[in-house]
Amino acid sequence: MKSYGYAAHRAKEPLRPFAFERRELANRDVALDVLYCGVCHSDLHQVRDEWGVGIFPMVPGHEMIGRVTAVGSQVSRFKPGDLAGVGVMVDSCRKCESCQQGLEQYCEKGCTFTYNSPTADGQPTYGGYARNIVADDSFVLRIPGGLDPAAAAPLLCAGITTYSPLRHWRVKGQKVGVVGLGGLGHLAVKFAHAMGARVVLFTTSEGKAPDALRFGADEVVISTNENEMKRHADSLDFIVNAISAQHNLNPYLGLLKRDGVMALVGLPDKDLSFSIPNLSFKRRQIAGTAIGGIAETQEMLDFCANHGIVCDIELIPIQKINEAFERMSRNDVKYRFVIDLASLRNESR
Ligand code: NAP
Ligand code: ZN
Ligand code: ZN
Repeated sequence: MKSYGYAAHRAKEPLRPFAFERRELANRDVALDVLYCGVCHSDLHQVRDEWGVGIFPMVPGHEMIGRVTAVGSQVSRFKPGDLAGVGVMVDSCRKCESCQQGLEQYCEKGCTFTYNSPTADGQPTYGGYARNIVADDSFVLRIPGGLDPAAAAPLLCAGITTYSPLRHWRVKGQKVGVVGLGGLGHLAVKFAHAMGARVVLFTTSEGKAPDALRFGADEVVISTNENEMKRHADSLDFIVNAISAQHNLNPYLGLLKRDGVMALVGLPDKDLSFSIPNLSFKRRQIAGTAIGGIAETQEMLDFCANHGIVCDIELIPIQKINEAFERMSRNDVKYRFVIDLASLRNESR
């Protein structure tokens, strides 16, 4: 199937138009015309090859909502015309313990990511900065009615990545810190608030405080202000750390009470430092967590429909993607860019 989108042809190069082939529809496949695709900071890390695993040309995009155009003969969950979503994964082994437990993101054979991932036929996967996508129906999500598709698209990555740890560590009734008010962080605030936590948002950007309060934070702390930080020392049960850049963990670890947990969702290109006594003498824990399983992603979408949660977005035509990446690297995003793929229809190919 022919497709067309925007690709980084080499690491660090601006994205430009790219014509490519999608696989033909197999029995269990769903084909979608992409309507909206969120711009995740992971897209920026990967087009710049900051994780050192880039396959080029690379069509990024793993937060997409589209309209089903065709389904394979064995697909019963979707029909043409349905709204559907594709997130960060498009396949996994389905047999290992993690897959059997609905934790496909931790597949022991390694899951297949939506883009920048090798496949058995030797072709890499290509993401959602494109007209269409073909994916196995087990990895396609239903979009509940009532969610604005443009504002819901980033839920497919930013949403599940913050929902999953807040559920896993059962934050209801806890004092929860969210560090970094970006795409992930602003959803972490909304989810933690909706789950019944008391939420403190830690930011380096003074101007974001009113937005954080609107998203459901009970308090906002400027993390560079030592006095403000001290007021919360040893008091948090749980922290979601969504910072995209290298930073020192110690000031944030000092916020945790005994046995408190900091879950790192940010994936900076360089390792982070912390002092071991800062953990030892309060039995604090640092954890990592990656997106969420497919069933949990569906649960998250339903939770969003029930609680009226979507992202705060800035809709852009695809022709503005390089500018959007520049702005994201300058921390100038409120709070997620979403590409309107209607903008691709004006391009001839
Ligand atoms: P984003 O929208 O760019 O937000 C990142 C936030 O980090 C910024 O808004 C800023 O918050 C803070 N920040 C940036 N540079 C900083 C610095 N030098 N020091 C302190 N704070 C800084 O990014 P995103 O899309 O939310 O993604 C965040 C990270 O999560 C990325 O590394 C991404 O790759 C990763 N990610 C991981 C997963 C996973 O499965 N684990 C999934 C998706 C994304 P303030 O202005 O409030 O300080
Ligand atoms: Zn992402
Ligand atoms: Zn598996």
